[in-house]
Amino acid sequence: MAEYQIHRRPTGGLHLAARKTISTATRINRNLAPERLIIPMTQQLGPPATPTVTVGQRVVRGQSVGDPGETPSAAVHAPRAGTVLKLEQRLVPGGNRLVQSPCVVLAVDDESTEPRTEPQGHWPDGHTDRIQAIRTAGIVGLGGAAFPTAEKLATNGSCSTLILNGAECEPYISCDDMLMRESAAEILTGAQTMMSLVGADICLLAIERDKSLALESMAAAIAELGDERIRIATVPSVYPAGGERQLIELLMGEEVPSGHYPIATGCVCQNVATAYALDRLVRAGEPLMTRIVTVTGKGVREPQNVEVPIGTPIRELIQHCGGYVGNVERLILGGSMMGYSVSSDELPVTKATNCVIAAHRDEVRDSYQEWPCIRCGNCAEVCPARLLPQDLLRRSRSYDYQQLDVLGLSDCIECGCCDVVCPSQIPLTDYFRDAKQARRTHERHRRLADTAQSRYLSKQERLRLQQEQTERLQTDLKAQVAADSKLRQETVQAAIDRVRRRRDADDAR
Ligand code: SF4
Ligand code: SF4
Repeated sequence: MAEYQIHRRPTGGLHLAARKTISTATRINRNLAPERLIIPMTQQLGPPATPTVTVGQRVVRGQSVGDPGETPSAAVHAPRAGTVLKLEQRLVPGGNRLVQSPCVVLAVDDESTEPRTEPQGHWPDGHTDRIQAIRTAGIVGLGGAAFPTAEKLATNGSCSTLILNGAECEPYISCDDMLMRESAAEILTGAQTMMSLVGADICLLAIERDKSLALESMAAAIAELGDERIRIATVPSVYPAGGERQLIELLMGEEVPSGHYPIATGCVCQNVATAYALDRLVRAGEPLMTRIVTVTGKGVREPQNVEVPIGTPIRELIQHCGGYVGNVERLILGGSMMGYSVSSDELPVTKATNCVIAAHRDEVRDSYQEWPCIRCGNCAEVCPARLLPQDLLRRSRSYDYQQLDVLGLSDCIECGCCDVVCPSQIPLTDYFRDAKQARRTHERHRRLADTAQSRYLSKQERLRLQQEQTERLQTDLKAQVAADSKLRQETVQAAIDRVRRRRDADDAR
């Protein structure tokens, strides 16, 4: 992990050893036939989908098994025909850690029997119906963030440029590179569909300079298509140049303002694999059921890229690639910089899983002794988000959320560059990840406390009004009783007076 060179400003970042060629020697393997699928309902940013099947139910390939309900969730489909074995809560890969999610566990039918497929709908005509079709197809960003694509494409016409992200900058990951080499035409027609949806006049296809085969393939496909609106923009092989905000700044020369989406700069950024998935929807009516995953590292016998049905257990995926070899020190989901270690290969591949690394000892960073910060400034120099990691560190340790907000913690993309260059070996990114999680928990607790307080105050107000009403009623009642009593006394007195008068009159006679 010490193999790096600092990339100078304005974009920060590092030149890292790519380690991608180990998985690019063969074409994408599309023959994986899992026996069992664990299909998570949480595979995207936003709330989980709701399972729409029951235990024992037979499902066909392409059938919806998860209803997105409220946006910004995403629908989930069965990538293979089979029978629902279980509906259960399980740990599944989330954005940067494992999360609990409802899952549909499916026993896959024997593929040698007649494959059963859900009849697919046609690509509709209107903009709203097309956005809805993308939502129903469960398409999400396949670059790793898994943001629901329909939400990104439903812009209000303020997009001038579609940026197609083929800058796969993180070490080890090569799935986009291979897809661009093999399916350039499909990616381009997917991009054309995206352009028509967002109203963009131009599409910039970002590819790193060192991806010569992908560059050749995409250039040939653009020439063949003859669409002059689509242009290739080569970018330096710097990590993390492929980060959405970093790429926009690099290509457009404009920074996405903190707390805003890229559309604030007139851009929509989509991954090349997402364009490919959209093309499959438009051409064949296929929802998102598979994704390309890079299976790599010295710990796997035949590193390669595999088209994987969503929900395939990692163990089956590794077996498909020849199984483990040697002493696997760590199993990592994602790349070597932003990925995270998991302790079980029973976890399923999700729509966000772009890479699985079975790493030997010499491929992972050792856990070193952490020393105090010496304020050398290396971390600030490489930070692609222009943050001051050393200050963020200080505030993260004291959970000073107000100052963390001021320092822009939410803009940290957890790229790990600051960790790599820190001479004190401080795991800065872990601190920032934990601080963000604590910040979210703090925010949730604060909202709950606010809700509880407002409920308490409402109750107090209700009780006060009730008390006032009771007191008013009691006062009215007392007044009524007093009035009744007075009336009664007056009536009695009047009767007495009448009797007296009558008696006096009798006496006078
Ligand atoms: S690189 Fe490490 S030691 Fe240097 S300023 Fe940043 S946190 Fe401190
Ligand atoms: S992890 Fe965050 S603070 Fe560190 S370099 Fe990356 S963006 Fe900057």
